[in-house]
Amino acid sequence: MIQFKNVSKIYGDNHPALHNVNLHIRPKEFVSIIGRSGAGKSTFAKMLIAQERPSEGEIIVGGWDITKIRNDEVPFLRRQIGVVFQDFNLLFNKTVEENVSFALEVAGMQKQKIRQVVQPILKIVGLQGKEGRYPNEVSGGEMQRVAIARALAHRPKIFIADEPTGNLDTINAQEIVDLLKKINEFGTTVVLMTHDRDMVNSLRRRVIVMDHGEVVNDLESGKYTL
Ligand code: ADP
Repeated sequence: MIQFKNVSKIYGDNHPALHNVNLHIRPKEFVSIIGRSGAGKSTFAKMLIAQERPSEGEIIVGGWDITKIRNDEVPFLRRQIGVVFQDFNLLFNKTVEENVSFALEVAGMQKQKIRQVVQPILKIVGLQGKEGRYPNEVSGGEMQRVAIARALAHRPKIFIADEPTGNLDTINAQEIVDLLKKINEFGTTVVLMTHDRDMVNSLRRRVIVMDHGEVVNDLESGKYTL
C-alpha cells in the first residue's frame, strides 16, 4: 500500500529530515511511527500527500509512483489519503457539518448526495446531534473528530494521523485512538505518527521507530521501550 525505497529528504541546502528510509506498509495495516520531535515523522506524512517531495528515492502509494507526481495529479492523490494533524485546521465560520461537507462541495458533489455521505460519517465519529455547532462550541476532542470526519469524506484507502492527540487530554486522546482503530477495522490502512510511547504500547500493533530521520526499529506488534 505504501512503499518508501531509499527515501531521503533534505530541506533547503543542508537541513536533513529523512535519511535512506526503506519501509513497506501493507493494505489494512495499523502502523504507528514513533519518534522524538524532529525525528522526521511529519516529513514522512507530508511526502505521502506530496506536500513535500523527496530529495532522493522512490515513494509508491497503492502501486502509483508519486515520486515525481505532477501538480495537477496531487488533488487525486489527496482524495485517496485522509490526513489529520495536531492542529485541527477547521474553518471556524462553518458548522461541524459544513466543515465536513466543504471538501465534497469543492470536488463538485451534489448537495443531496453530500448529505447522504456526511450524515453516516458524523455518526461514525460520534458527532450526531452536534452538526449545527461551530468549532468553538465543541470540545478539543470533538474538534479532532470533525477533522477526522472531514478526512473520511472521500472514503480514503489510507488514513494518516500526525500527532492527532497532541492537543488533547488523556481521555480524549484514548477516544481518538479508539476511533482510529475503528477506521482500521473498516479496512482502511492507518498510519499514526506520535511521540507517545504509552499510546503505541497500548495499541499492540506494528511500531516503526524513527530517530534523526532514520528508521531504527520495526517491531511487529512489539512492545516499544525507549
Ligand atoms: P517530527 O514530525 O518527527 O517532529 P519533522 O519531520 O517535522 O519531524 O522534522 C524533521 C527535521 O526536519 C527536523 O530537524 C526539522 O527541523 C527539519 N525540518 C522540518 N521541516 C523543515 C522545513 N520546512 N525547513 C527546514 N527544515 C525542516
